[in-house]
Amino acid sequence: MALPDCVRDRIKLPDVPAVVAGTRLTLFLSPDGELEELEPATARRRIAGTAPLVCHARALARRLELPGLRCHDVLELFAFVRPAQFAVPTARGLAETLGLDCSPGRAGEALALAHIAARLLAELAHGSDAEAATIGNAMAAAGWPWGPYVQAALQGVAPSARGFAAWRGLPEISEHAPPPPAGHQAVEQDEARRRLADLLGDASEPRPSQADYAAALTPAFAPRDREDHPNVVLAEAGTGVGKTLGYLAPASLWAEKNDGPVWVSTYTRNLQHQIDGELDRLFPAHEVKALKAVLRKGRENYLCLLNLEEAVQALPSQPSNAIALGLMARWTAATRDGDLTGGDFPGWLPELVGRQRTLGLADRRGECVYSACPHYHRCFIERSIRRAKRAEIVVANHALVMVQAALGGDDDTVLPTRLVFDEGHHVFDAADNAFSAHLSAAEGEELRRWLLGAEAGRASRARGLKRRTEDLITGDERAVAALAEALAAARELPGDGWHTRLGEARPGGAVERFLDKVRAQVYARTTRHQDVYGLETELRPPIDGLVEAGGLAATALRRLRAPLDRLRQRVLARLETEAEDLDSATRVRIEAIARSLNRRALVPLAGWIAMLDALATATPPEFVDWLEIERADGRDLDIGMYRHWIDPTRPFAQAVIEPAHGVVITSATLTDGTGDEEADWAVAEGRNGVPHLAVPAVRARAPSPFDYPAQTRVFIVTDVRKDDLAQVAAAYRALFLAAGGGALGLFTAISRLRAVHGRLAPALDEAGLKLLAQHVDPLETASLIDIFRAEEDACLLGTDAVRDGVDVPGRSLRLIVFDRVPWPRPTILHRARRKASGGKLYDDMLTRLKLKQAFGRLVRRADDVGVFVLLDPMMPSRLLGAFPPDVPVARVGLAEAVAGTRGFLHPDAPPESN
Ligand code: SF4
Repeated sequence: MALPDCVRDRIKLPDVPAVVAGTRLTLFLSPDGELEELEPATARRRIAGTAPLVCHARALARRLELPGLRCHDVLELFAFVRPAQFAVPTARGLAETLGLDCSPGRAGEALALAHIAARLLAELAHGSDAEAATIGNAMAAAGWPWGPYVQAALQGVAPSARGFAAWRGLPEISEHAPPPPAGHQAVEQDEARRRLADLLGDASEPRPSQADYAAALTPAFAPRDREDHPNVVLAEAGTGVGKTLGYLAPASLWAEKNDGPVWVSTYTRNLQHQIDGELDRLFPAHEVKALKAVLRKGRENYLCLLNLEEAVQALPSQPSNAIALGLMARWTAATRDGDLTGGDFPGWLPELVGRQRTLGLADRRGECVYSACPHYHRCFIERSIRRAKRAEIVVANHALVMVQAALGGDDDTVLPTRLVFDEGHHVFDAADNAFSAHLSAAEGEELRRWLLGAEAGRASRARGLKRRTEDLITGDERAVAALAEALAAARELPGDGWHTRLGEARPGGAVERFLDKVRAQVYARTTRHQDVYGLETELRPPIDGLVEAGGLAATALRRLRAPLDRLRQRVLARLETEAEDLDSATRVRIEAIARSLNRRALVPLAGWIAMLDALATATPPEFVDWLEIERADGRDLDIGMYRHWIDPTRPFAQAVIEPAHGVVITSATLTDGTGDEEADWAVAEGRNGVPHLAVPAVRARAPSPFDYPAQTRVFIVTDVRKDDLAQVAAAYRALFLAAGGGALGLFTAISRLRAVHGRLAPALDEAGLKLLAQHVDPLETASLIDIFRAEEDACLLGTDAVRDGVDVPGRSLRLIVFDRVPWPRPTILHRARRKASGGKLYDDMLTRLKLKQAFGRLVRRADDVGVFVLLDPMMPSRLLGAFPPDVPVARVGLAEAVAGTRGFLHPDAPPESN
């Protein structure tokens, strides 16, 4: 960027060292340009007090054990100058986004830091951003290290009056009449093929399996002939078929022909955004896409403008929040849709400036005041809901679809007649979450806060039910009395400080007294006190006092539920008694309050009461109940009584599939791999609720076009003792080095991951390979995966979330190492399902599906090659059906697996001498 002198003069950089930390050594670039590699103790001494130039201050502070280290973090500057723009959170990632060079290795990154800062400040100096000037001044006053440099760059720019009040610049939502119901025109197979060909364009190679797949889905877009008899298609499409465009072809045709929406539901954020990208082919014009395609998530994902405004108003008493809120205000003014959990929000920002002042500004607890909110007509959530009502393709997630179907959600969205579930292999788990009930301290506290809002002595913005409803019930004495009665009864729910009270056996209300007994029973019965994930035990036989405490808690919850129900009815009654006088904004608000009372209070309370009643009688046969203490890092996080469906696809089939007219459930891994075709499909059907439907599903399969036998190798290592973590770590080290990075290490337990990480890190550091690890690095999983994807030779360690979220085409992922066979954890819930579903065969099926899913991450493109290694000599042959037919599987010693990995991935490299 060529800059005039007057602009160049305003770009000043801090006279501080630039620092990049490795696992072992830290690279230190002095202001004079001298590069040194320092041992940790020396690095700490040299860096302390310098406010160095870094990328991701928190990760550096963690590595160097310098908590609270003050830094000039280029990520913060990037978030200020280019809000709502994606960048991988590394110096290399930022340099790439800014179009700057970055030489290989850590030295290249250290040198790039100053160039990144200079480029960002130059962009500021080049423009005349009045909002940036106002916000920058406030952030400088709050002590933001970049503050003086931003002020210098913006010198002469008059500050704006808007500043932090980003909501003022957002466009108003346009209102429309509700759309008419969708039609019932079918989509023919030939039409679907032609639409797919149009989407692909002339330049694309024809992919017959993709066209066959698109055609095979059309039964789901045919009209339904009988109520509660939906047309369901289960479609397995191997990796590389081009599933997304394959289903968008018939879905978009159906939406056009019938003036109705099709919802595409996914499990992972990653896929949602991938689909969003593919929708560009369907709607190449940006304005058309904005109208016809919408990403729809639960309200807890979006920034609430009222929360932001209230946080900004509190700045005079909490001035240090100005840095985080300044960055949030910049993002709010620039974001496409206000989505805090994906889209254009920098996922790494909460790691830098805190979750409370970033993600904590979402409407996480359903405290919306709807049309009483001054920002209602600019609200991101309302905008997404309205847009989804008029869109042709709505991309949602399994959790939202299931909650919407089962409880009606917080808004008046009606699920469409056509649904496509991508990542269908996650339907079972999503249903398990959506249809379960947890009477726990954390859930009880959440409900108490929703009802009572901020209680005395707590610094919180929480808006209670009184504040949300009182103007709606003024003058209605019965409603006012019901509200008062409910709020008094809510004090029997767990409140702030329950951790301490339960730890000291001095519970505070009826529900805490019950949870105190739960805790006592779990500790009395468990045999696994050291379990880091959680402790659990059966309900029966109960310890003394558990059933009695449960009975009293049920009575307290009934005393809460009854007045809430009355309040809801009184509020709803206004819709009839004042039908002629109510303005539409109040009407909308009444409906919204009634819905959220139902979803957030009445339904969970009914579930909890039923669970407590079962303590004295019996658990209904379709459920499994247990008591549990959830833990993380050896600390108790939550305590409660849990109820899950033994088969959660039953309520899923009833609430989600049956009311629809057509449903596609698709994935690369739907069927099992026993070799018995019929049994394998039966698993796919059972995991997706088909046996609970009145009509069978259509089965479709499109094989992967990849040549797996040529592109992949599987090694099962027979001489590494999986319980000896030193051996396991040594195996990881040798394999990762043989691959030269590009390796993903998957673990069945966090403790194993951490133990291996500690032993592995120095060797990889020495080899110049970046090592990233979930549960170790202070970065979100999505950020870790972004870095892994961007760096061709990085290594990543992770557990289930990484396995599910990794979609890394190309060389960046060429080796997967699993620490042992991923058998299911032997929980009470698993035991109940195992008993109901075939015992050992059920374990095998779950494990095969996990392995199949993990293997599927390896090859994402036709030219990818990859090696899959399992460090478990006890891997039974009956699980080998997890891998595609004819893939060479070798049971070998570690040395052979290492040589095989090196030879397969680097065929031209000379063999290792030792
Ligand atoms: S309408 Fe509700 S969610 Fe939207 S900004 Fe206002 S309070 Fe927040």
